[in-house]
Amino acid sequence: MKILVAVKRVVDANVKIRVKADNSGVELTNAKMAINPFCEIAVEEAIRIKEKGQADEVIVVSIGDKACQEQIRTSLALGADRGIHVEAEDGVQPLAVAKILKALIDKEGIGLVLLGKQSIDSDNNQVAQMLAALGNMPQGTFACAVELTDGKVKVTREIDGGEQTVLLSLPAVISSDLRLNEPRYASLPNIMKAKKKPIDTVTPADLGVNTASGLKIIAVEPPPARSAGVKVADVDELISKLKTEAKVI
Ligand code: AMP
Repeated sequence: MKILVAVKRVVDANVKIRVKADNSGVELTNAKMAINPFCEIAVEEAIRIKEKGQADEVIVVSIGDKACQEQIRTSLALGADRGIHVEAEDGVQPLAVAKILKALIDKEGIGLVLLGKQSIDSDNNQVAQMLAALGNMPQGTFACAVELTDGKVKVTREIDGGEQTVLLSLPAVISSDLRLNEPRYASLPNIMKAKKKPIDTVTPADLGVNTASGLKIIAVEPPPARSAGVKVADVDELISKLKTEAKVI
């Protein structure tokens, strides 16, 4: 069985982001970029499944400009077997991403697709669900445990107020939540080995997908700055302020 993992290049989660002066987006010049953390968890899960002997190949795909080959290479260093770079302008919208992934599933004969539950830059949480709908495949989103048994996959999902376990037939789509696993670090020998692993480049047009977007970002704004706190002398003053100023009690 082949596993396809979708990894997105995003601003590193530890970087304090700045909004561009013209409010057209986030300033990416010189920003440290990384694999979307949820995608890293998806890569780790795919590698663990392969290490258990339940998959033959882990293929990593990233859609974006040339720079996202860096995140593909990192995934190869973690243990994926080969990469596919779908060369497109940055900012391909979730529906087009889902269509591209669907085309690759058909082309490669994929048995299991692993994605992150959401991109930390655009916070969409859409691609996995759209992909499952496009491919008429069962989906296990927000996965915190994945177990392959008898040609099916058991997925435990994090839901409001608890967990839900679903049994999916293959091919299936799974999106990873934070507690699914703790990704490994790439060792130096594996980083060296990854340089020799193949990365194919294709375009959305090669896959028959039009990436034109019907969505226009009007403005990106930072959240309002927090006003400074005040120190209160005692509990009475705190209660009085909560009543008269904050009006929460
Ligand atoms: P989203 O629906 O945009 O929050 O993204 C959910 C997941 O879809 C991500 O964690 C990735 O696994 C995948 N994905 C989204 N955009 C891309 C992209 N440009 N390239 C590869 N995978 C992507």
